Amino acid sequence: MLVKQNLKDFNKNLTEAVTLVAVSKTKPLADIQEAYEAGQRVFGENKIQEMVNKYEALPKDIQWHMIGHLQSNKVKYMAHFVDLIHGVDSIKTLREIDKQAKKNGRIINCLIQAKIAKEETKFGMSFDEIESFMTSSEKQELKNISIVGLMGMASFSSNEKEVSDEFKNLKTFFDALNTSGCQLSILSMGMSGDYQLAIDNGSTMIRVGSAIFGSRNYIV
Ligand SMILES: *Cc1c(COP(=O)(O)O)cnc(C)c1O
Repeated sequence: MLVKQNLKDFNKNLTEAVTLVAVSKTKPLADIQEAYEAGQRVFGENKIQEMVNKYEALPKDIQWHMIGHLQSNKVKYMAHFVDLIHGVDSIKTLREIDKQAKKNGRIINCLIQAKIAKEETKFGMSFDEIESFMTSSEKQELKNISIVGLMGMASFSSNEKEVSDEFKNLKTFFDALNTSGCQLSILSMGMSGDYQLAIDNGSTMIRVGSAIFGSRNYIV
């Protein structure tokens, strides 16, 4: 019941311009089922094997988003069903996704992860790297992926100005890419602790785990 209530409270404050990805990593099938019954269809996981197991056990109209850092050699396990991959941070990984998508006769939607936090631990490509890839001939050749937007994680900080500025930077870059001809529709930024700041700064997709499912028992 708790999950249902949390979702309801959450959705009350969201406009249609923002998509909620319910981050169910480490949580049992029963929790996902409860959210599903409350109408939630988009779920995020950060480990490929865990997502595959859940995909196999749960209703097939769920849209599964991979939000974690990717290991190229595991892309093949999710290529037949993954709906959106958020955390792509290298061209090597994009090539592997393209290859696996092709094998499955699909086009897989991807977000490129941009590094916006100062923390060394956060993954992501620099704005320069993203911009040069977006205008490269290689991008044209990867016909089985579609880059539909960007993803970013702000610093883990209680300094709202710092977090807000990081989101703002990413939104400005996102808009600039679109002005120069890219057709990006999704800006994935914001988690339980900072989604409001992210929305205020132009997020179109938030990835929320603990505020819906409760805190996780271990750090992943
Ligand atoms: C775990 C995770 C989230 C959700 O985190 P919460 O703080 O529980 O909302 C969002 N994005 C990524 C990339 C994650 O790994």
